[in-house]
Amino acid sequence: MNDGNPLLEPWQTPYGLPPFGAVRAQHFVPAFEQAMREHLAEIDAIADLGSTPGFEDTVAAFDRSGRLLARLEGLFFNLASSETSPELQAVERELAPRLAAHESSICLHAGLFARIAAVHAQRAALGLRAEQVRLVERIHLDFVRAGAMLAPDAKRRYAQVMERLAELTTRFGQNVLADESAFRLELHGEADLAGLPAFVRAAARAAAAERGSQADGVITLSRSHIVPFLTFSERRDLREKAWRAWVTRGEHEGENDNRPVAAEILALRSEQARLHGHASFADYALADTMAGTQDAVERLLARVWGPARVRAEAEQEALQAMLLSSGEGHAIEAWDWRYFAEKVRRTRYDLDEASVKPYFALDRMVEAAFDCAQRLFGLRFVEQPAVEAYHPDVKVYEVRGADDALVGVFLHDNFARPTKRSGAWMSSYRRQSRNAAPGQGGVLPIVVNNGNFARGGAGEPTLLSFDDATTLFHEFGHGLHGLLSNVDYERLSGTSVLRDFVELPSQIFEHWLEQPEVLRRHARHHVTGEPIPDELVARLQAARKFNQGYETVRYAASALVDMAAHSSTGTDVPDITSLEREVLDRIGLPAAIGMNHRLAHFQHLFAGSGYAAGYYVYLWAEVLDADGFDAFVEAGDPFDPQVAERLRRCIYSAGNSIEPGAAFRAFRGREPMVEPMLRQRGLLEPAGA
Ligand SMILES: [Zn+2]
Repeated sequence: MNDGNPLLEPWQTPYGLPPFGAVRAQHFVPAFEQAMREHLAEIDAIADLGSTPGFEDTVAAFDRSGRLLARLEGLFFNLASSETSPELQAVERELAPRLAAHESSICLHAGLFARIAAVHAQRAALGLRAEQVRLVERIHLDFVRAGAMLAPDAKRRYAQVMERLAELTTRFGQNVLADESAFRLELHGEADLAGLPAFVRAAARAAAAERGSQADGVITLSRSHIVPFLTFSERRDLREKAWRAWVTRGEHEGENDNRPVAAEILALRSEQARLHGHASFADYALADTMAGTQDAVERLLARVWGPARVRAEAEQEALQAMLLSSGEGHAIEAWDWRYFAEKVRRTRYDLDEASVKPYFALDRMVEAAFDCAQRLFGLRFVEQPAVEAYHPDVKVYEVRGADDALVGVFLHDNFARPTKRSGAWMSSYRRQSRNAAPGQGGVLPIVVNNGNFARGGAGEPTLLSFDDATTLFHEFGHGLHGLLSNVDYERLSGTSVLRDFVELPSQIFEHWLEQPEVLRRHARHHVTGEPIPDELVARLQAARKFNQGYETVRYAASALVDMAAHSSTGTDVPDITSLEREVLDRIGLPAAIGMNHRLAHFQHLFAGSGYAAGYYVYLWAEVLDADGFDAFVEAGDPFDPQVAERLRRCIYSAGNSIEPGAAFRAFRGREPMVEPMLRQRGLLEPAGA
């Protein structure tokens, strides 16, 4: 009985995309209910088989189960992130604990686990291929880590903890969005606009128009608004106002206050870890990573913290000198840093954002990313303007391989909207696999990249900063990881790798944007079509290491606060404000440097669990990406076909079918080295440079 619910009808759409136009918020709960019932029935059927447990009837069948549910989750959580509404948010709050309960009922299903454990115990004797052995081991480990081997009482409590965590992490993200939507800094007249270059004014005008404001411009808390505003606005009072609004998201008394939410999440995670016999959540989380232990993470962070702090202090002195020479007498505060850094950058490298951005039109940078994917991996992206997505801004592309066969579908959703959460991210509607029911063939991936770029004014192109373009390439690297996936089993597919490995395909892809030949070809002036001048490229390259003390310190401080928050071994509910303060005092974060993310809006940690005790992963992956890209440098060609082929086979296509350390060694021929990352950040040079 579908009752006309389009989610439960076969999706008769191009490529099997969701029937976006027909879906309403009220369709989700009944559809999810049916999908969870179907999934549980599939699991019961596996568990009830009387046969001796085998790979095909147990492990492969489990990998095939729950496809309707996965399809609904792909649709629902993508919409909830990038085109939400009060109705969808209500559904999200209702579904989060029910989906967590469903997940627990699968992971704690005794009959299913007994069969999986039996296959696991026999795996060496079953004549399995390497990917099949890996699948058995990963599923077994995932079940153990989700509580399958706990005693009955502990299992019950574990399921309660997971349900409550699902509620709280949903609430956390919605609270941040509420604070972001509630804030707008209205700019009236030239006095408020002082110092803002044309592209910031255009974005502010567009935001004002979108919100029906009569002001000359509106600055929102979207990163692509706030960062340029802090960089250029001559109005120190407005910079302070914007900065304070930005860093206090989630920290206002009232119904959107995230402080008690985060505190309860931390306490529950601590309990989750103790149920598993780990001393802290950080120990539990890190046990299934490349790093393995808190000690390994702290050693890496310590390696950068010292030199980065020294460098940041030298940078601050240069900013202070610039401030004094401009006739002001105050100390540099956090809302001054970007503004004076931009002045120093302009002086030192004769480089200002406003002269760089005309060469980085969004459309051209998208072409650049596609072109690199073609030169490295033979992919072609063919726009399908007739295919509708969930918002008119979203572009749909067919992705075709070197042999012209369809590889997958790519959705590109680049603009900020009030209905979209902040940041940039990749996600999937459908994941690649070859493990379909008999006669159904393989499953092609449907991947989406989201950005929050500030749209250019009416009739004007959207111009990116070099950082924005880097973000575009970063997410596109994740997108390629989903699209190039070439494995048999869905649970090993694409980005479902260990989390300190998952940023390798994204971060390594950033390197191609920096290649002079890529810039010459694609970074063309949006009016004249002239390629970016070589000497401007040279100055961009030289400026790459500028302000890296600041960037590294801000990042590492957030990573250290994350580790501290998740390393508690007690049962007390922590006060996150004093926890944060204590860590920052201990490590000596300079007052003029804010964190990347404060705990009350640190969505990586609290709006989901993906990066809890895991914010370090970007730096971990940077060790891999800096060393990995050096393979192309050593080959003397950023598109060297043999290195590109190894990169595709060992990294982008392999998913989780290979243990990540082995995947890296197969690509690079040896263990990763830390020095290329330190060199990339300029942290091997003396601080005065
Ligand atoms: Zn990423």
